[in-house]
Amino acid sequence: MDWRISTPGGVGRVRGAWRSWLARRGTRFVHAAAYALPVAASAYDPRRGERVLSFLAWNRLVRPEHVLHPEPASMRALRRVHAEGYLGRLDRSKELTATLGYEPTLEMLDRLVVVQRTMVGGTMLALREALSTKRLIVHLGGGLHHARTDRGAGFCLFNDVAVAIASRREAGYRGRILVIDLDMHDGDGTRAIFANDPTVHTFSVHERPWDTTEALEATSVALGPGVDDDTYFSALERQLPAVFSAFRPQLVVFLAGTDPSVNDKRGHWRISDDGLLARDAFVLQLVRDAAGSPRLVITLAGGYGRDAWRPTARFLAWHLSGGRRLEPPATDELTLHHYRLLAEPLDAQRLRGIDKDEGDWTLSEQEVLGEVGAGRRQSRLLDYYSPHGVELALEQLGFLDRIRARGFDTPTLDFELDHPAGQTVRLFGDARRKTLLGELRVRRDKRQLPGHELLSVEWLLLQNPRASFTAERPRLPGQRHPGLGLLHDTASLLLLVCDRLRLDGIVFTPSHYHLAVQSERLLRFLHPDDQARFEALRGALEPLSLEQAARALEQRRVRETDTGHSVRWEPRPMVMPASERLRARMEGEDYENRRRQARAGFRFALHPEPES
Ligand SMILES: [Zn+2]
Repeated sequence: MDWRISTPGGVGRVRGAWRSWLARRGTRFVHAAAYALPVAASAYDPRRGERVLSFLAWNRLVRPEHVLHPEPASMRALRRVHAEGYLGRLDRSKELTATLGYEPTLEMLDRLVVVQRTMVGGTMLALREALSTKRLIVHLGGGLHHARTDRGAGFCLFNDVAVAIASRREAGYRGRILVIDLDMHDGDGTRAIFANDPTVHTFSVHERPWDTTEALEATSVALGPGVDDDTYFSALERQLPAVFSAFRPQLVVFLAGTDPSVNDKRGHWRISDDGLLARDAFVLQLVRDAAGSPRLVITLAGGYGRDAWRPTARFLAWHLSGGRRLEPPATDELTLHHYRLLAEPLDAQRLRGIDKDEGDWTLSEQEVLGEVGAGRRQSRLLDYYSPHGVELALEQLGFLDRIRARGFDTPTLDFELDHPAGQTVRLFGDARRKTLLGELRVRRDKRQLPGHELLSVEWLLLQNPRASFTAERPRLPGQRHPGLGLLHDTASLLLLVCDRLRLDGIVFTPSHYHLAVQSERLLRFLHPDDQARFEALRGALEPLSLEQAARALEQRRVRETDTGHSVRWEPRPMVMPASERLRARMEGEDYENRRRQARAGFRFALHPEPES
């Protein structure tokens, strides 16, 4: 069978076929804001589904009305699969340590239960929609395939696919159901739940079996570690079409896990980007070609790291565009796209606090009370935004929802706009302004780089006072609390400010080495010599974790190779370009030449920790 994306015939065939399907029906998505709740699980990116939608929206491939929002599954629904005793034990964190790989705090546990119950609700909604509307339904969550009737496993508390199937059965649906599980891990939970059900075939291709219980209708293929495209495809080609012809499914649920990807943070396979795209296209084509036009639901399943959204986005964009290959951007760039898209409808007059009809100032409550300083000029942040306008923007851009998602129900802003050192915006987690989450001091700057106007970030603090330092997230110099996890979001919002005020970019001087490291994906040192020095330092500290590196610098363990002098952190300005001309300067040949020349002059070595 000739189906690979890399062969021109394959692309054409799939494309033509798929267009006609699309023309008939159209695709719908299922996603909930709750999925983006931060949960402490290593390498799991809660914003995966949201990023996929942002990318599709940016390419005008999905509209808000195409996204359905599920409710958390009821206890009644969960009981269709899960044992009463197990459900009753879910509020005890010690019980769940094995499932999750760590002992969750009660707050974290509550959050996890909400996220996963909503995912069960999402898969239930997806199956219902697929069967009633005959559309392709993509659930940007779910695929919790390890959960059993009486226990969780591998981070899965509930088996969403099993509950959704049980719910359809209770509603009277009798069709044959094929579950295609292409997550890198074994779909053992789903297989065990349906082991004695001849109407559900579970198909799983995985690294190693988690369970060897026999099932009436199951295909289980273990391929071992290090699998490449060829091995993967030949297994799929050998096994999957045969299941379609023998079992003749009427509903297909596809767990399109992206952890087989070579780029996955936890997977052990080497499937290429093209390979994953071809795999997903292959499954779609099998469904389309199958006798009886089976319905199809896709769920996300596994995929780890900040880039786990990209294979899914690539595939869905290919599908929705009728076969075009649209390469997803880097994750940081996507964050910016996401906010730009949301910022489009923001009205300049409302941001500035000018009433449209009156053409007059509309003062916020704080301004009326005189809390933000007297005088018209000082009542604007950066001579532009009214306090109310800032709050409005943060609300509409979804930023305040991210704060609420972290358990701070009443995010409250506070402005200090008439201070000579810069204007300060503070974000508190409570109405009484006791819990400080963020503090930003900014001003417009024309001196740092002659001929350019920059947004100077004099001070930026983002902290979560309710979180604790852990082995994975240790305390860094200058930190009282762990971070809020919103640095890139904040940087994107500041770039939107530059867009609106026509500033050339952001300038920020990191007071500590670790701040420069955390910013380096987004910012570069303004002067090429400083960039070169930072790179040399980074090179010397390479073998260490960020926390160890910060400590090594404080202990003066980095020395100049030639002189033996210890190297200190020297705060120097970093910039993030917003305008084309600043970008050209920062990425231009002059800058590069200077940086390369300077780089040769910095030779640093790391000295071992003193014996205690
Ligand atoms: Zn997996």
